[in-house]
Amino acid sequence: MSLTQYTRLQTAEVRIGDLLLGNGHPIRVQTMTTTDTMNTMATVEQTIRCIEAGAELVRITAPSKNEALNLQNIKDELRKRGYQTPLVADIHFTPNAAEIAARIIEKVRVNPGNYADKKKFEFIEYTDAAYQEEIDRIRERFTPLVKICKEYGTAMRIGTNHGSLSDRIMSRYGDSAIGMVESAMEFLRIARDENYHNIVLSMKSSNPQVMVQAYRLLVQTLLENGEVFPLHLGVTEAGDGEDGRIKSAIGIGALLEDGIGDTVRVSLTEAPEAEMPVAKLLVDRYANRNSESHIPKEEIPIDFFAYSRRHTHEVLNIGGKNVPRVFADYSNRETITAASLFAVGYAYSVDMDKWNLSDSACDYLFVGKNSVNFEIPGTLGVVMEYEAWLQNKNKERHYPVLSCSEYNQPNERSGELNFVEVELEDLTETFLSVLKSDTTVVLLLKTSHECAVQHRRTAIFRLMNHGVTCPVVLSSKYDLDEEAYTLYSSTDVGALLLDGMGDGVLISNTHSSLAKSNAIAFGILQATRTRISRTEYISCPSCGRTLFDLQETTAKIRSRTSHLKGVKIGIMGCIVNGPGEMADADYGYVGTGVGKITLYKEKNVVKKNIDEDQAVDELISLIKEYGDWVEA
Ligand code: SF4
Repeated sequence: MSLTQYTRLQTAEVRIGDLLLGNGHPIRVQTMTTTDTMNTMATVEQTIRCIEAGAELVRITAPSKNEALNLQNIKDELRKRGYQTPLVADIHFTPNAAEIAARIIEKVRVNPGNYADKKKFEFIEYTDAAYQEEIDRIRERFTPLVKICKEYGTAMRIGTNHGSLSDRIMSRYGDSAIGMVESAMEFLRIARDENYHNIVLSMKSSNPQVMVQAYRLLVQTLLENGEVFPLHLGVTEAGDGEDGRIKSAIGIGALLEDGIGDTVRVSLTEAPEAEMPVAKLLVDRYANRNSESHIPKEEIPIDFFAYSRRHTHEVLNIGGKNVPRVFADYSNRETITAASLFAVGYAYSVDMDKWNLSDSACDYLFVGKNSVNFEIPGTLGVVMEYEAWLQNKNKERHYPVLSCSEYNQPNERSGELNFVEVELEDLTETFLSVLKSDTTVVLLLKTSHECAVQHRRTAIFRLMNHGVTCPVVLSSKYDLDEEAYTLYSSTDVGALLLDGMGDGVLISNTHSSLAKSNAIAFGILQATRTRISRTEYISCPSCGRTLFDLQETTAKIRSRTSHLKGVKIGIMGCIVNGPGEMADADYGYVGTGVGKITLYKEKNVVKKNIDEDQAVDELISLIKEYGDWVEA
């Protein structure tokens, strides 16, 4: 409802067994099992581990009638052991499985991209009449499920995935947020025509930018239609470890900041119970979020349904067309030596008297009152507190940070680059008019406000509304444990970068190393696709369809390819959904049978059913064949 005030979107209430969702109820957390659904005991045990880790809903895949039928055994065993948590059947391609599951458990999830369509990656020119015929065909296939859900009191999620839009939607709307919304709306209209409203919607993507725009557009469409259904949030195929957490925190967190989201699933390529602490940390931040944030009103100068980077002028290598810069905070260090730069991507070779830079080498050191008494690499700048800078004899690639009051004095400055530390409240009319005529200033934009995203967003809107084009570095200090630091800094910075705001990142945490902060900063830029510095992995979280050990395989592929800057590799557990879900990957590694892997170049199969133990080598040969390989 607002980009500058935190207000949770008012949605309708949906009942899933005894669990109420939407309508101001707490944001629910959920996950999905990875066991074979036919293995009742393994699925029950894993579901219990998820519930005990905090899951309020557990999804189980039902790829065919047999698995759907076995949901009864799983449910019975769970209830016998005293677990009442509602279960959700995950359906792709199999309406008959959905119709069985809807009679047994509390909720079914259908993917409108493949419930009634098979994907062939074909472009089809539809006349309006031919398109309507397709809609009629969907109505015929989908209405029986709606009727069953209505009769049994079963809830439903219409879950669009960016990677599995039908050929029909792709042909008419393209690979777009509008296409994603329309894909859900086609199914939603049918359900509403049947007077069935126990519905949750989702718009997932592995690209947080696409995801955020699709949810915003969906909300606008629902508001126009007069019935706002609860929303399930998730970034698909986020991957594992820190990357998966950063990507999820950006996509999910940015929407939660917008007040959007009634339930969250964090998809990590890890055990499903490992997703729960991450999901809980993400949603707990909003449990007591005050909507009376008292942030001054500012007109919104951007189109928040489409990405466009804020126009800034270039100051040295910051702003303009430069990638966002990364700043490392050395201000708490007692001494800074050449060896201490190793943490932020610089290794000095004494033998060769040369600096070696990693792909994640930071651009500036913020040293506070400290100084640097050795020759720094040519690509690095040093940022110092103003008084220290004045006293420092060496001014080459050394730049001051001024407070607003220091900036307002006619003092000595750098002729090239001056940082000024500001908060929203410092951006007065007088200050803004001075900024307009000073082409050496880069703002270090801080906030101490609870609603950090809205507070800084308002500050940037104010700059835009006043025609101030100086670059902005997003600067935040945290005092959190490492997991919360990773998630919250990713949300705070990522949400702004997704809307094109921010020309640099300076983050630090009392309890984290410089290496950690540097990795998070580069991870945020990678996930928002504002600065690509390494390989991107789009790996599915795995489920009962998975045909190999995804965690181990992802780690194996990562260890051989993580130096391939800008290459996107999809690692998918099954052939049914994998090729669709990996969306815009350059190379795909997809399970096709027990011990068998099929390799893709973009959407095309290039090596079919190769043995799993040779598949990673084959993948590397393929990358070499297409000229994307470089030696580590
Ligand atoms: S792509 Fe992965 S998570 Fe999706 S259905 Fe296949 S195995 Fe399951």
